[in-house]
Parts: sequence; C-alpha cells; structure tokens
Amino acid sequence: MFWLKSIKSKIMIFAILATLIPSLGLGLLSFRQNEAQIGENVTRELRALTSEASRDMELWIERRVHEVHVTSTSSAVIDGLAAIVRPQASARTNTASKHPQALTHYLRSVQEKLDTIRELTVVNTAGQVVASSAQTATAVKLPDEWPPNSLTEGLLIVPPHWDHQYASATLSIAVPVLSYDNLLMGALVAVLDLHTLQPHLKSATNSPQGDILLLDQDGRILVSSRPDTDKLQLDRSLLQKLRAQSGESLVFPGITHREVIGLAEVSTDLPLTIVAERDRAEVYSAWIALRNMFLTLVGALIMVVAAVAFQMGRSIVGPLQRLIDAADRIAVGNLEVRLTAARNDELGHLTQVFNQMADRLRHSHAEIMAANQAMQQQNQVLEMLSITDSLTGLYNRSKLDAILSDQLARFKRTQREFTLLMMDIDHFKSLNDTYGHITGDEILAAVACILVQSIRSIDFAARYGGDEFIIILVETSADQALKTAERIRSQVENMRYSFRDSTISVTVSIGIVQCQSDDMTATAVFARADSALYEAKRAGRNRAHCAQ
Ligand code: GH3
Ligand code: MG
Repeated sequence: MFWLKSIKSKIMIFAILATLIPSLGLGLLSFRQNEAQIGENVTRELRALTSEASRDMELWIERRVHEVHVTSTSSAVIDGLAAIVRPQASARTNTASKHPQALTHYLRSVQEKLDTIRELTVVNTAGQVVASSAQTATAVKLPDEWPPNSLTEGLLIVPPHWDHQYASATLSIAVPVLSYDNLLMGALVAVLDLHTLQPHLKSATNSPQGDILLLDQDGRILVSSRPDTDKLQLDRSLLQKLRAQSGESLVFPGITHREVIGLAEVSTDLPLTIVAERDRAEVYSAWIALRNMFLTLVGALIMVVAAVAFQMGRSIVGPLQRLIDAADRIAVGNLEVRLTAARNDELGHLTQVFNQMADRLRHSHAEIMAANQAMQQQNQVLEMLSITDSLTGLYNRSKLDAILSDQLARFKRTQREFTLLMMDIDHFKSLNDTYGHITGDEILAAVACILVQSIRSIDFAARYGGDEFIIILVETSADQALKTAERIRSQVENMRYSFRDSTISVTVSIGIVQCQSDDMTATAVFARADSALYEAKRAGRNRAHCAQ
C-alpha cells in the first residue's frame, strides 16, 4: 500500500472522491425523486384510466339498456307478448301480432341490427321464454318486485361472465314489458356482448397510455383494450392483492408477461375488477436512458478529473522529487547541484530558495576550504619554523636531536652506517669582536650556505648552537665523510667575505665520527664528535679530524 502514501495518489483519491460523492449523491437523489415522481404520475394516470374505463362501461351499459328499453316499448313486443300472455285482452288489437312467430322475427331483426346484443328474449312474468332471437334461449329468474328505476335503467340478470355459448364475455339485462294499460306482462332480456366494449376501452387508452383489463372474480380477462387476451387469466393471488390495495399501484408481470405497473378499481355495480397497467420499461425508458447518460457523464467526468489530478500530482511530485534528489546529492557532498526554476508558483519559489541555499553552502564550503588551506600552509610554516634555525635556515637543535635518534634507531635496525660531522668556526669570538655581531651573523649564514650546497638531499645539516654546525651523512663511511669534510673546509677557507675595505677569511675545524654499535644515545655520539673536534682544534684548527 506504499502508493497510497504518495502525494500523487492522495491528490487523485481526493479529486475522485470530491467529484464522485457530490455528483453521484445529488444525481442519485434527484433520480430517486424523479423515479418517485414518475411512479406517482403513473399511478395518477392509471387511476384516471380505470375511472374512465368504469365510466365508459357504465355509459355503454346505459346505451344498451336504452336500446333494449326502446325495443321493449315497441308495439311489436307489447302486442306480441300481450297476445301470448293476455290473449283475451289483445284480441281487439292487431291480428298480425298475434302470430307467435311474428315476435320472434321481430326480435331477430332487432338483434341482427344491434351487434352489441347477442340475444333478445321475451319472457313472461314467471321467467318462461315466450319468444327469442336465439334458437335455444335459457329461462331466467325475474325478481318478484321490480325496482322502481328498472324501467329506464334495466335490471342486471346475469353478471358479466365468460359465455361459452357465444365464446365471448356477456352480461344479461332485463327490462320490464308493460301493456298499454301499464300492467306488467313480462320482460325483454338482452344478452350483451361485452366484446363490443373493447373499441371504447381501446380509444380510452390513448391518453393516458396503458391497457385496461376487465376481470371477473377469478381473474379471467373478459374484455381488454388489447386484442387476443380472451384466454388469459391473471394470477388469483395477484388479483386479491390488487383488489386489496385498490387504487394503489403495484409492479407485477402483466398479461404480456412483461413487468408492468398496474392498479385495480373494484366496480361497485358489477362483480368486476378493472385493472389498468402500463409497461414498466416503457414508463421508465426515458428515465433509465437519462440515468445511464448521467452515469456515463459521471464516469467521463471522473476520468477527466482523475487525469487532471494525476497531471497535477505529477507536476507537484516531479519537482519535489528533483528537489529530494538534489538534497540527497548535497547530503553526500556533491555541492555542484543547480536546479532550473522555470515555474512561477510555490514550487518554483522553493526551487529558487533551494538554489540560493546550495549557492550559500557552496560559497561557505569554498571559504572553509580556503581557510583550511591557509591554515595548513601556516601549520607547515610553523612546523618549518619549529624545526629551523632562524638565522641560518638549517635544522635547529631539537630537530637535530630527533634526526640523530632516528638515524641511530635505523642503524641499530638495519646496520646501515652514517657519519656525523661536528664543525666549529675558528676564532669566531675575535671575528665578532673585530667586525661586529651583525657581521658575525652574516658569516654564520654564509657558512651554512656552503654546508647546504655541499651535502646530498638525503643528508642533514643543522646548527648545533653558537658557531657550531652538525652534518649527518646518511649511509656514508668515515673515509667518504672525511672527503666531504675536507671539501667543506676548503670551500669555507676559500670564501672571501668583504667587510668595508678589508676581506675577512674564515676557517672551520671539523670532528668526524662514524656511528658504532656501542653508540647508545645521541649524547654519546655528540660527545665522541666533540672529542674529534677538540682534536682538530688542538692540532692547529682549519682541519678535519676523524675519530678512530
Ligand atoms: P675557537 O677557535 O676555540 O673556537 O675560538 P672561538 O673564539 O671561536 O671560541 P668559541 O667557539 O668558544 O666562541 C664562540 C663565540 O661565538 C662566542 C660567542 O660570542 C659567539 N657567538 C655565539 N653565538 C653567536 C651568534 O649567534 N652570533 C654571533 N655573531 N656570535 C655568536
Ligand atoms: Mg669557535
């Protein structure tokens, strides 16, 4: 999970969440509200559809009742029925109507004209068939007491049901037939074909859209606004549910087996359930398309935001990483680091400050290095001074002691011989007295110069003190040393030092000792050299004497 800790991924996650949460939250909330709104609208429309269908049905039945009523008041029916049920009373009237077949013919002619009616039957007050347009009319049970409005509104004899005889949904109504003197003679019963209601239902479903189903108690479809639904049946438990929640919409598999939104209205007058339904996918198609478009847009937006955030993260992390790399290089001592600060923002400023810091560091480092070098040089000078005689530039006494101790140790370790020359200027005191101390100093320096020029680079020359000098000739035997001593002596002797109008001549005496295995200390060597020098002085000066 390291990537989660990087600034880049944090910026990306933040940007995506900051886009996703409000857009999805608000979007889905509004879609939820829209969905609920659509649901409410559909429910309202379906309710309107069922009430309209209910009204259409009532109107249709009313018209049919009116047609039957008009037929029942026709003289053909009154006379025909009277001739059969009241032969004496009707004897005075039209003879043509007395013929029993005449009524049947009349009923048939009316029924044929009205396609909404399947059967017209005239019955007597006992419900026995007197004449019928059908071949075999069934007897009906008439009420003992006709309701007062039955003359105009008719009476439902058989509720809507599936009629196998006519292979259609039918219902039967009866209208009382009265004689001219207002006596009840029987009734005119009409079997109405509910299928003829279908065009009314269909036209009603255009606006608002949807399908209307008229169902019997078992859920069988009697009429519907869709064709070819005769043999279909709605699930009984579903019907119960719809009836129980009358007026409230539910989602269920509709007659075409597609998911629908539907609601039921239970008819108050007839044992019917009016169901209005609409294809759910169709209702929500625009909504679903809009939602999908929204989700696609949100997806695209997130991609754009993620890309921008990634670029932003990169534009921050990139320079930061360069700064980190540069700081790492400085940490390991590489001060020659310089970053290009092309940006004009905080990171650009930080880069500039970083460059200034690096410049300062470089400058300070250079100063420290210079101070170090100067110190080293001063140390070298000090070291030089600490081992050098200021007057002659030769090694001083303390350095001479160290050199001699080294040479002794080396001789004891490797048996490599060395020879020591102790030299003293003759009658130097009188030179000092004659020419002055400053001239004495100049003579000391001039002799020292001859010494330095007479020895090899591996040899050592030192001022022992006063007018005494020591030379150590490395890996040199006494004989070889004697030659060197002789050469020095002669050069000093030949040196002409001018003082005012006169020339000063200087001579030296030299004592020579070769190192021996019993030379335990530097002092012992010096002592032996001093003796050799003494011998040279004693022998008359301006000579070299080698100790045996
Ligand atoms: P000898 O031949 O026996 O050596 O006689 P000498 O006169 O040289 O006697 P010695 O070596 O004992 O005298 C050394 C003198 O050197 C004594 C002192 O005045 C002088 N001297 C010592 N140090 C210095 C110095 O630094 N500068 C000068 N100008 N003279 C010095
Ligand atoms: Mg002397």
